[in-house]
Amino acid sequence: MGPPCSIDGAESRVMLETTIVGSLPKPAWLAEPNVLFAPWRLEGEALREGQGDAVRLAIQDQEEAGIDIVSDGEQRRRHYIWGFLSGLSGIDTHNLGKKLARGGRYAQQTAVARIVGEVAWLGPVLVEGLRFARAQTARPLKVTLPGPMTIVDSIVDEHYGGDEQTLAMRFAAIVNAEARGLAEAGADVVQFDEPCFNIYIDKVQAWGIEALERCIDGVTARTAVHICYGYGTEAVLAWKRQNRDWGHYAQTLPLLAKSHIDQVSVETAASGIDPAVLATLAGKDVLLGAIDVGTEDVETPETVAGRIRRALSHVPPENLYPCSDCGMVPRSRASARGKLQALAAGAAIVRAELEGGERG
Ligand code: ZN
Repeated sequence: MGPPCSIDGAESRVMLETTIVGSLPKPAWLAEPNVLFAPWRLEGEALREGQGDAVRLAIQDQEEAGIDIVSDGEQRRRHYIWGFLSGLSGIDTHNLGKKLARGGRYAQQTAVARIVGEVAWLGPVLVEGLRFARAQTARPLKVTLPGPMTIVDSIVDEHYGGDEQTLAMRFAAIVNAEARGLAEAGADVVQFDEPCFNIYIDKVQAWGIEALERCIDGVTARTAVHICYGYGTEAVLAWKRQNRDWGHYAQTLPLLAKSHIDQVSVETAASGIDPAVLATLAGKDVLLGAIDVGTEDVETPETVAGRIRRALSHVPPENLYPCSDCGMVPRSRASARGKLQALAAGAAIVRAELEGGERG
């Protein structure tokens, strides 16, 4: 294991460090390609070993591309929410329920996990996987957890019967216990995925920020929240094509600016947002979505550089982290590898321009 690098050290800090939101496609021998939540193709010990091999490859792909802050590519989870919930008590992630989730934006009915008993954290769920990834790379390492609002939106409660806020705070305490363990085990960044922060704006203000604060309490790593408009799937792309209101970030980002979160991950490559909204995050690190995850087409480095330059009018370079818009699990491996390389190369172009400007 190497030193935790430049992420906290202002003197050695590299501008425009690159990172990804989280997931990468899985090898075909592990799960069916191009499918969200695809079932595993291995079982038992072979599955555990296969997941470990896939993690090594995901890290290697990121390192070879030149990504600065890497993740395990979420190679150990079928689903970004179930992968954590299945480690808790009281939750059924096999016999799923149905509900209208995400405000009905992408589907009228979504298959969701069910709360069937007392929900409790029985001990670390993702820490063993984190330790494995930590041993594979000297680079700063990010790990992701589902955020409480997104968990509550992705579950049917057949046990408690209370309100959403109370349930969200229950999950926030559980996610916090896990996040503390991940930081202690060597995660440099712990990210909470809250796509619902772009949907339920009133709830973000009423209790979403409070729940997020509970998640990060006492976590000894950089903390991040990822807020996007969803994976690059057909249902999401169809919603985006007809959407005319991109004002969600303008309401949530100022609230996050007042919170204790360190980093905010926003989708800017494939959404219609005005990058000027990023100025409201003054003082926070901005993980700038500069890779469109809704297409197989690989961006040129110059396209990525253009997206980064657009944000530099609103975010200082030392706070700007070029990133993907969202997870890349639905993409082909070839496309994802190309996008990683374009991301690093695009950031390098702009970094060279900034350094040239400093000398000149
Ligand atoms: Zn996302």
